[in-house]
Amino acid sequence: MHEMSLVRSVVSIVTEEAEAAGAAKVTKVHIVLGEGRDIVEDLFESLFQFLARGTVAEGARVVLHTRPYMVRCNACGNEFHLIPIDKRTWTCPECGKYKDYQLVSGMEFYISKIEASKGN
Ligand SMILES: [Zn+2]
Repeated sequence: MHEMSLVRSVVSIVTEEAEAAGAAKVTKVHIVLGEGRDIVEDLFESLFQFLARGTVAEGARVVLHTRPYMVRCNACGNEFHLIPIDKRTWTCPECGKYKDYQLVSGMEFYISKIEASKGN
């Protein structure tokens, strides 16, 4: 379950940032997530709630912004959407070359925005 370590690092970054900014409570955490990361979104959110208990991020909403897994064909340069678990999508729809591509996007994993309310 690789979600656990990713969520753990998200929670520690969020709480550090919030505390440094003097926030009383984190309300929302926006995360950009590539499809290729193979994250179970529901699991991610519930782990976040679990790990954030007792911190300023407790009860914050997690908003996941998914990025498609895009590759560029080495043979013809065409960019197409690939689904890692579906081998039928590993073939370039333009020239028919199989499994000969470079990754363009889809492995993103970062916090894009933290929303918080200020304490007194
Ligand atoms: Zn191609």
